Amino acid sequence: MSALKLTPMFEQYLRIKRDHPDALLFYRMGDFYELFFEDAEVASRELGIALTSRNPNAETRVPMCGVPHHAAEGYLTQLLAKGHKVAICDQIGDPKQTKGLVERAVTRVLTPGTVVEDANLSPKAGNFLAALYHDGTSGGLAWVDFSTGDWSGLAASRAENLWQWLAKLDPREVLMSGDAELPDAYADLALQVTRLPTSPAFDLYTASAKVQEVQGVAGLEVLDLADKPGLVRACGALLGYLAATQKHDLKHLGQFVQLDPGSHLILDEVTERNLELFRRLDGKTGRGTLWQVLDQTMTAMGGRLLQDRLRKPWRKRAPVLLTQQAVAMLHDNDALRTELRDGLDRVYDLERLSTRVALGRAAPKDYVALRESLAALPALYSLLTGHAELPDAMLQTLARWDDMHDLAELLNHSLVDSPPPTVTEGGLFRSGYHPELDELIELTEHGEARLQELLEREREAHRLPKLKLGVNRVFGYYLELSRASGDEPPEHFIRRQSLKSSERYVTPELKELEDKLFSAADKRKSLEYSLFQSLRDTVAGLRERLKSMASILAELDYWQSLAEVGRREAWTRPQLGDDTLLRIRGGRHPVVEAVQGRAAFIPNDLHLDRMSRLLLITGPNMAGKSTVLRQTALIVILAQMGSYVPAAEADVGLTDRVFSRVGASDNLAQGRSTFMVEMMETARILRRATSRSLVILDEIGRGTSTFDGLALAWAVVEELARRGGGTIRTLFATHYHELTALEGRIHGLRNYTIAIKEWKGEIIFLRRLVPGPSDRSYGVEVARLAGVPQPVVQRAREILEELECHRDGKGPRIEARQDLLPGMIAPKADAPQAAPPCAPHPVLDALREVRVEGLTPLAALNLLQELKSHLGEDET
Ligand code: ADP
Ligand code: MG
Repeated sequence: MSALKLTPMFEQYLRIKRDHPDALLFYRMGDFYELFFEDAEVASRELGIALTSRNPNAETRVPMCGVPHHAAEGYLTQLLAKGHKVAICDQIGDPKQTKGLVERAVTRVLTPGTVVEDANLSPKAGNFLAALYHDGTSGGLAWVDFSTGDWSGLAASRAENLWQWLAKLDPREVLMSGDAELPDAYADLALQVTRLPTSPAFDLYTASAKVQEVQGVAGLEVLDLADKPGLVRACGALLGYLAATQKHDLKHLGQFVQLDPGSHLILDEVTERNLELFRRLDGKTGRGTLWQVLDQTMTAMGGRLLQDRLRKPWRKRAPVLLTQQAVAMLHDNDALRTELRDGLDRVYDLERLSTRVALGRAAPKDYVALRESLAALPALYSLLTGHAELPDAMLQTLARWDDMHDLAELLNHSLVDSPPPTVTEGGLFRSGYHPELDELIELTEHGEARLQELLEREREAHRLPKLKLGVNRVFGYYLELSRASGDEPPEHFIRRQSLKSSERYVTPELKELEDKLFSAADKRKSLEYSLFQSLRDTVAGLRERLKSMASILAELDYWQSLAEVGRREAWTRPQLGDDTLLRIRGGRHPVVEAVQGRAAFIPNDLHLDRMSRLLLITGPNMAGKSTVLRQTALIVILAQMGSYVPAAEADVGLTDRVFSRVGASDNLAQGRSTFMVEMMETARILRRATSRSLVILDEIGRGTSTFDGLALAWAVVEELARRGGGTIRTLFATHYHELTALEGRIHGLRNYTIAIKEWKGEIIFLRRLVPGPSDRSYGVEVARLAGVPQPVVQRAREILEELECHRDGKGPRIEARQDLLPGMIAPKADAPQAAPPCAPHPVLDALREVRVEGLTPLAALNLLQELKSHLGEDET
């Protein structure tokens, strides 16, 4: 660049760009936002727009592309969705008033974590910007959903706890201090990290000041932050970043809420993933997730609340009970629920609407949405209060009800039914709202009629029936008398122009009217604009009330959604206990059931208590082990959200944590097949599980060789049985039969299996969980079910039989398949010096290593093929 002689414009551009190296700079020029240099290359690629050049003929070309400013929103949405940041640089000087270069400045920076426009947000999910700080001994995680103004934080001494919540939040953007590292276990999280210098971004002193200012408090004690410097620093970074990007005060942020993990049922991010709460294991959303079944909310606010509660259900009985009562009432009353749902359906996203209003980024249609939402409120209120017996939670909520009648009225009589999309062109306000505006509206919309009136008056008063009204560019409006008529102009007519056949006049009144007409349009636009701004300020001032009302509606929506699902899916209201009992009668997996149809799903009973608290579940592949495991965890989670549960009856002893881990090979879709990860996860459970936890281990140890896996699974079972004073409720599905020998040796361990029936050499899955060990793994039968060709299955059976006869270690003798082509069989007679029966032979060695129980059908097939190929090699 240095060689290039810069125009003043490029000097300005580069000066501004220097402050925003990591954002695409949208540089306003006339009606366009232009991008230059690398920004232009990136944007043209991402947006599929033409890349041109600012100075096509110069030696050093400057790549350039641009988008029309009125269509910028759509392009910005695309760039944000792809993870880009965009700095909007506007003309802040008036080009008409400026000689030379007009002044420009960045008016805001759009980042994925701070967007507030609906196009960039998904309605029922929070959009989080997080900041994480840890200094080795303590730290904090702060996060904000800027679109709603909710912000929270968590202080923790262990970085792992912070990362765990971070992973659960799945933020769009994370702020970290320049030198902080991502721990290995979280290295594959797809995080968009923005690095900020530790100082000043995470500086403690600045941070304390910012937090106090935003919250309007005089000390950190009030917020219970005095002894949490790490969290304060994280908050400070968050606030600083918002201020720098939004260029707006942060008044719309709500009360800072500190997360108390102790009051929640903790589901770490791995558990959340394994149980497919929000996403399937393959990463997709929608069908196949619990969310898909559970979400019957009618509003975005209710949807976000549901998401939040599913992420962190309660641990204590009180909030669960309160919720259950409200849910039960709506569950039992179909008519009321239906009406409530209809009413809620008319309510828009009050939280995000009011945020946009507060930030001055609301479009007229947002106000209309606000108006329509408010219009739905009185009916909702009378619907609920008209009901005879209301549960406590509902009474408490309705006591805070606020229709915001004043605002509804204001919006009703101010804005027209369907205002235009922009606020600068007028046409927003109704007549009757503002006297001066009325006059202007009258003039702009009825100016022609006023002129006609004037003409009529002159005609009548002076008996000039032939008097005409005209307009031209030079004189504006005039009155015209033709010479032929012979009429004389009255005195107050002022002659302006004489033509061959007529005379043209003006009158003072006509001139005045004309002035009004010509300026009315402009005046109206600017008056409406300023009226709109004061309307905005008024509405912005009601933010707290809107937020509070939004939270009431969200709660109602949450209750009705749970009631609706409970009713629709025929769930039951669980009993909550303070013991470590877990008793489920007729439990179902809500998601598998939804996919297969209720009639096809076979419910199961399950009972865990002090005497029987570690169920070791064996059984063939595909029998339904994983399903039973997961449905149990889901029932506990749902129960502690205050929901009904998919069972005929359920007693749930309140649980502090649910851990769910799936052995490596079940998790292959994740691409994290490493045994290491599996063991790290297991280690975490062993460290963290308490007497009140529920642990679900599905085929742990599968990711390694048979004996290692068995040994580890064994040791893990023993440890789980010992820990937490011996009360940890555990479901352990395994293909290691050997473990069934532990029943009777470990207190509280019980063998269970999923019943199957053999019929004419086939197996039929009964899907019933029954006491006792499974007798064998049926891998071969499953292989047949999976479509492995009949000869291979038959052959596998023979091999298996042979193997099972030789468990004494002598080694089996397996003859080659009889139908192999003659040339492929090693001729026995020709090899008299062949090794004795158990002498080393690659195929026999390999077979000796095989644990058939542990083989998946596919692995069995591969193995057979491999063995065969060895035989073939031997031959040549
Ligand atoms: P496993 O873990 O024993 O290999 P899964 O739990 O994965 O078996 O179940 C395999 C399949 O069997 C499931 O995908 C589901 O289609 C079906 N299934 C499992 N349990 C049931 C049940 N209780 N009722 C009906 N179908 C079931
Ligand atoms: Mg399984």
